[in-house]
This record gives sequence, C-alpha cells and structure tokens, in this order.
Amino acid sequence: MKYPIAIIGGGLCGLTSAIRLAEKGHDVHLYEAAPALGGRTRSFYDSRVNEWVDNGPHLLIGAYKATRRLLESIGADGNITWQRSLKLSLWDEQRGHFCLAPSPYLPFPLALMAALYRLPGHHVDSLLSLLRLDRSMKDRSGRKVAVATVKEWMEAEKISPALQRDLIEPLCLGVMNEPMQGADCNSFASVLREAFASHDHARLGWFNKPLSEAVIKPLEQRFQSLGGSIFTGTTIRSIEQAGNSCQLHTSQNSQNTTGPYRNVIIALPAYARNRLLGVEEPVKTGPITNVHLWFEADIPLPDSLIGGIGTRGQWYFNVSSQTARDGAQHICAVISAAGSAEEAGNKAELIQIICEELAMLSGIETVQPIHSKIVIEQRATVLVNAKHQRMNIGMIIDASEAPLPGDFPATIEAAVLRGEEVAKSLCFQQ
Ligand SMILES: Cc1cc2nc3c(=O)[nH]c(=O)nc-3n(C[C@H](O)[C@H](O)[C@H](O)COP(=O)(O)OP(=O)(O)OC[C@H]3O[C@@H](n4cnc5c(N)ncnc54)[C@H](O)[C@@H]3O)c2cc1C
Repeated sequence: MKYPIAIIGGGLCGLTSAIRLAEKGHDVHLYEAAPALGGRTRSFYDSRVNEWVDNGPHLLIGAYKATRRLLESIGADGNITWQRSLKLSLWDEQRGHFCLAPSPYLPFPLALMAALYRLPGHHVDSLLSLLRLDRSMKDRSGRKVAVATVKEWMEAEKISPALQRDLIEPLCLGVMNEPMQGADCNSFASVLREAFASHDHARLGWFNKPLSEAVIKPLEQRFQSLGGSIFTGTTIRSIEQAGNSCQLHTSQNSQNTTGPYRNVIIALPAYARNRLLGVEEPVKTGPITNVHLWFEADIPLPDSLIGGIGTRGQWYFNVSSQTARDGAQHICAVISAAGSAEEAGNKAELIQIICEELAMLSGIETVQPIHSKIVIEQRATVLVNAKHQRMNIGMIIDASEAPLPGDFPATIEAAVLRGEEVAKSLCFQQ
C-alpha cells in the first residue's frame, strides 16, 4: 500500500506543492498550525470598517512567472491588476510627484533610458550609470561574487547617487526587504536581470481583492477539488522516521501522532523549520511595518501606488482604488526593513508622520483618519544568507524559505517556485 504525502505549512509554498502533487494523482495531507491557510499572505476581518484587510499589501512584478502560471492554472489570474507597462510613481518633498514611465513602443532598454533622462534631477550621468549597471548585470550571470552588498556593487560601478536614490534603493527595499547596505548583490542582480528583461517583466501588479480571496481561497478550492485533505489548527511538533515511513507528532510528548506518510515536505520559513527539526542555528529575518489608515473624505493621491523618496512611508498603496472598494478610503503605507520596538511603542507618532506625508503628497492641508491599524510583521521575510542549507533528511524534504546568495529573495514568487520544485522532485523520484 502507498502511504500519503504530508506537507507541513499551509502558506503559498505548501499550497503550491500540494496542488502540483495532487494533480499527479498523489494522496496529499496538508497541515497548518493557524486556524486558516495563507501564512504570510493572509487577511483579517476588521469589523470597524466591515472589510477584509491584508496583513500587508503585496506587490508583484511581471517577472513573477511561476506565480502567474499558478494563478492562471486555477483561473485566478484576473485577481491581479497588471500595469500595461511599467509606471513607477514617485514622490519627494522637493520634486513633488513624478513618474518613471518607459514608452511601451520602444525596446525596453532604450525606453528605460529615455524615461530616466526625463526624470527631474537626472542627467547624462544617470544614463551612463544605467549602461554600466546593465553591463555589470550581464557579466554577473552565472558568476557569484563573495560577500558583496548592493551598496558595494553600486559604488564599484560608480552608479550615480540620483539613480541609487530614485530606482535602486526603492527596488532593493521592495524586493529584498533590506537596505542597499546589507542586501546581497547577487540576489538583487538576479531580480534586476529578470525585471529588466522586457516590458512585460518590468510592469508592476497588485491584487484587486484581499489576499485570502484573491489567492488563498482559489488555491484551497483547487486542492480540495483534487481530493486533498487539509488539517488547519494543527501544529506539527516533531517528525519521526522509522523503516519506510514517517509519523508526525502534534504534541510535545509525542503522544498524539498522525501518519504513516511516505514523505514529509517542510514548507515553512527557515526559523520554523529549525524549531521543528530541533536545529539551533539562528536565522536572520527582516521586518515589515504596514500602517493601514481609513479616511472619510477621499485623499486625492496622484496614483494608486506611490514610492516615497526620503519619506517614512516607502510605498503608499491606495487599497480602495486598487480593489475598487466603496466606503471609507483605505490607504496603506508600507515600511520595509523596519519594525522595531520603537515603531511598536510609538504608534500614534508613526500615524501622525504618515498623515503629514499623505497631506503633502495629496496637496491638502491636514488629513485625519477615522480608523487605523498598524501591522508589524517582525519576521516578514527570511533574508538571503550564504549559511543557509537544505535539510533533506531521509524521507523529509525541505522546501523552506532559506534563500542563498544569487537565489530569488524571499517573495511570493520564491514560495511558488519552491513548492513547484519540491513537487517535481518527488514526482520524479516515484
Ligand atoms: C507584511 C508582508 C508583506 C510582504 N510583501 C511582499 C510583496 O510585496 N511581494 C512579495 O513577493 N512578497 C512579499 N512578502 C513575502 C511573502 O509573503 C512570503 O515570502 C511568502 O508568502 C512565503 O510563503 P511560504 O509558504 O514560504 O511561508 P508562510 O506563508 O510563512 O507559510 C508557512 C505556514 O506554516 C505554518 N506553520 C508554521 N509552523 C508550523 C508547524 N509546526 N506546523 C504546521 N504549520 C506550521 C504557518 O502558520 C504558515 O501558515 C511579504 C510578507 C509579509 C509578511
């Protein structure tokens, strides 16, 4: 008799591998500690505004090919709104609102250069910097440089301060969740190479429904329609391998057991995997702070997504316009690589700062929210680290979030890719 396959972790990685394995006819059991699936792509109900709200809005780039393929395959691709071609809306106090908008009618590299030249504060040195960056990115394909940060890379290539400030730093914070000073240059170069490959890859996308509805529910329904079993509210405490099968323990004293399973896939962030396997190694993570604000009177933002330069809020999402929702206007300011105790302790001050920035951005005197919610995810992403390793032990297969230098950083796309790869490797073995 063939035993089923168990997956620990009901986030995007676990759900992807569960679907891909079930599609190949495998009997799959998915275990999730929380009461609902979703992991870090989850939504909560806010009764005050009668809305499902995401822990934090998620931004996508066209280069997220695996994510697009997955959502297309379950008929949920319409839940993402894609820009027709890249339009990066930016704002700072001196220059006001401006856009990097490469013409879709020119080849992408040429269009990017022309768009950059038109940005306030950019001159020929930005164009020369872009050419040097392009050459250096191409040099790097397949080659890894030891211990070099994005900042070191920018300095080595003499990238102009203006290009670093307006393009590199916002992108680095957005995809790496780390400032240039600490972010791994090989992983960042992989993202840039993919993102700058074409107009299609460079454009931005966002979910037009709450994450639970846009992504998680369709994936859950697809898995169930394939006969998969879901066990929510079930924390796996340890895994025991004996003979040709594994058992999962759901209590500390190993009294409550489930199984047998022929393979167990770990679809967790690396720190949760280490806890499960009893590994002591610490894992570096990056926080993200999300300041959700609701306003009675509409704040006239110049775009539905704006990157702030030199502002506390790094990205401003006009959630109401992105999701075409009525009612109080919902705006979320995202601060990557920030989630300190200071932020947690000074929520009123943080809201005040964000409101002042919103007032400047929209050109109105003062803005006053009718409701607010700050979500600080202290361990939003596992940071790229050369010390990470896969912990495949016997029948245990490790698909955890533990990016190495050069890998795609911890993102939705990386989670889907890990889920697909692990399912493929298991199907290949059987
Ligand atoms: C606020 C925020 C904003 C983000 N913004 C972006 C963005 O704009 N773009 C982007 O691409 N990415 C973004 N990310 C990153 C992205 O959400 C994650 O990289 C991705 O969702 C990780 O998916 P996962 O399945 O690997 O892990 P998770 O989503 O963490 O799933 C793991 C699951 O395992 C469960 N679990 C843990 N331990 C156990 C156990 N012992 N037994 C059973 N279950 C267990 C957890 O409850 C969780 O549901 C953001 C993340 C956060 C938090």
